[in-house]
Amino acid sequence: IQVEEKLYQNRYRVDEGRPHIKIKDREICSLCSHKICTVLCPAGCYRKGTDSAVSLITDGCLECGTCQVICLEHKNILWEYPRGGYGILYKFG
Ligand code: SF4
Repeated sequence: IQVEEKLYQNRYRVDEGRPHIKIKDREICSLCSHKICTVLCPAGCYRKGTDSAVSLITDGCLECGTCQVICLEHKNILWEYPRGGYGILYKFG
């Protein structure tokens, strides 16, 4: 079974209007040379735009914390866990 197929079995409860991760300053993302978040996020929450911008959609976030760690250079991410009852619902077994 492929990783994508495994991930597809999880469910995500969206906390409408209250994303648990935010980009502080989009201008900093535009100037960031590597945009490594667009490569390393296992859920593909970060996407490169055509205009060197970075977009973030937190639906489907696995709460792994990778983006928080890899953006230490710019410290441009506000990260917290979703409120209780929201976020990723892992399927085990
Ligand atoms: Fe992606 Fe992990 Fe960051 Fe969620 S916590 S947006 S899965 S890198």
